[in-house]
Amino acid sequence: MNMSDIWIMRIGHRPERDKRVTTHVALSSRALGARGIYVDTKDPVLEENIRSVVGRFGGDYSIETGVRWQDAVRKFDGIIVHLTMYGERVDEALPKIPRDKDMMIIVGAEKVPMDVYQRADYNISVGNQPHSEIAALAIFLDRFTEGRALYSDRGGKLTVVPNERGKTVVENPQ
Ligand code: SAM
Repeated sequence: MNMSDIWIMRIGHRPERDKRVTTHVALSSRALGARGIYVDTKDPVLEENIRSVVGRFGGDYSIETGVRWQDAVRKFDGIIVHLTMYGERVDEALPKIPRDKDMMIIVGAEKVPMDVYQRADYNISVGNQPHSEIAALAIFLDRFTEGRALYSDRGGKLTVVPNERGKTVVENPQ
């Protein structure tokens, strides 16, 4: 089954405070099958870190920072999902989401503007308890893709081979 493209829109990013969390939002979404991330605040260091991982481990994942969510959403042709603890239950929302369209998933940092709730096609919760954008995104992506991206080959310079104990890393000829 072909997967539609999934993009992440990270809003409320504060480069000093959210460095690690936004990095992990990007890395987790890449590992779980997203095509790229837009981040609202310009952050060249974040861009460099993510591109460095993509350079070593491969795949087709892009990052652009300094992109307003309103602009990203306006230009996007597909379904807009907003992950929020106030949204409808993930298990009830998933069957309603069309599979033949690209998807943009919005995740916040601090308080998310009400406009996002209005603009989203689906406001979806991963449980109604407050937790983390990394956890919410990972669970949502895993359920939406049914885990298909987890062990997909990214054609990178480095490939990690599953190992019951120890580390097996293969350097691929480029
Ligand atoms: N307090 C903020 C608000 O009310 O908008 C949210 C802060 S939370 C640390 C950061 C982000 O994690 C949220 O914007 C949302 O995307 C995600 N998140 C946290 N808990 C969630 C949940 N239970 N379900 C879905 N997303 C969640």
